Amino acid sequence: MSEHNGKKTFVTKEIIQEIVKIYPTPFHIYDEKGIRENAKAVQEAFAWNKGFKEYFAVKANPNPALIAILREYGCGCDCSSITELMLSKAMGIEGDDIMFSSNDTPAQEYAYAAKVGAIINLDDITHIDFVEKILGSLPETMSCRYNPGGIFQMSNGIMDNPGDAKYGFTTEQMFKGFRIMKEKGVKNFGIHAFLASNTVTNEYYPMLAKKLFELAVQLKEETGADIRFINLSGGVGIPYQPGQEGNDIRLIGEGVRKVYEEILVPAGMGDVAIYTEMGRFMMGPYGALVTQAIHEKHTHKEYIGVDACAVNLMRPAMYGAYHHITVLGKEDTACEYKYDVTGSLCENNDKFAVDRMLPKIDKGDYLVIHDTGAHGYAMGYNYNGKLKSAELLLKEDGTVELIRRAENPMDYFATLDGFEIHKKIQKEL
Ligand SMILES: *Cc1c(COP(=O)(O)O)cnc(C)c1O
Repeated sequence: MSEHNGKKTFVTKEIIQEIVKIYPTPFHIYDEKGIRENAKAVQEAFAWNKGFKEYFAVKANPNPALIAILREYGCGCDCSSITELMLSKAMGIEGDDIMFSSNDTPAQEYAYAAKVGAIINLDDITHIDFVEKILGSLPETMSCRYNPGGIFQMSNGIMDNPGDAKYGFTTEQMFKGFRIMKEKGVKNFGIHAFLASNTVTNEYYPMLAKKLFELAVQLKEETGADIRFINLSGGVGIPYQPGQEGNDIRLIGEGVRKVYEEILVPAGMGDVAIYTEMGRFMMGPYGALVTQAIHEKHTHKEYIGVDACAVNLMRPAMYGAYHHITVLGKEDTACEYKYDVTGSLCENNDKFAVDRMLPKIDKGDYLVIHDTGAHGYAMGYNYNGKLKSAELLLKEDGTVELIRRAENPMDYFATLDGFEIHKKIQKEL
């Protein structure tokens, strides 16, 4: 671990210098070893629960090579759209290995979800009729997303605001919805909730589980519904900041087990499966955006211009999110220079870091932007006509594999296919 920068990278300057001979920057690179060790730890943490399954939140990182690694550890897919369903299906992940946790869902997406046999997790009570009309009848297994409203607060002050979130059924709607679905022939029920995001505390899942387990017992008593699973969804966070202590998944699993034994087992519900839909925790720390410093600018502030921009990683621009930066080869150099690290978009928020203390950066230096494995590449877009980068996998044996090529200009123009301009552009190339 470097003294000054406080956060380890899984790549070194030497490795990157070799990689850029074949794949130019910018690119996202993923750490196979880290992904595997973490996925194994997640399975072990919940091994006490017979039906446990992690449904990886595909939206966090829809790269099939990475999903295939998680698949080896028993993970299914949590999908939120028809294209994510198509990807899962094409990978041979279907049936109850898919959780379809969508919201504001178009009819054709429900139809496709049913076709691939995904478990449908409804976001709203009105969708009971909506789905019934589309499918003719309701599937035997249905899940409902719960939103108790109010504020969800943990003892370390971390909180989130479900009362302000668009998702889920109210408490009253959960009871009503379960009764209606039971009358309509649904046999197996699930409960889902996502009440706080990026929680860097071991408390979140156990607190959420307690709430959902108590609700499950009541729902069973009052509606007679056969509750087969409780889905704790995502929200388990990672330490983006240096010095921040990460979650201990073993303690989280134990915490959930404790409330399971306190609440579900005495209620005769000791066979309920625990599901999770983690995205960030499964992939976040095991990805990095590698970019090269191509300009330095000295005006009212000191700027380092890099060859990546917000289309490669939107979180800093969108949420002001912190992503740690390591200057390769300068890991142990004192951070004595204050920089804004910028991309090239015509948007002043296109900054990977603002007023960040870093070692002196020279043109040509490679920067590693940490923790881009989840909600990184996946949030990419094409503003300013910028193209999305490649994705690489650093394998356990030290070799590097291209797992998605970079976009080329014709990808950008692909949707003009059939128009005259498309042929003209093609001719120019
Ligand atoms: C985004 C999302 C997830 C994953 O969340 P993380 O914070 O990445 O773990 C899981 N389930 C649903 C329904 C989501 O929208």
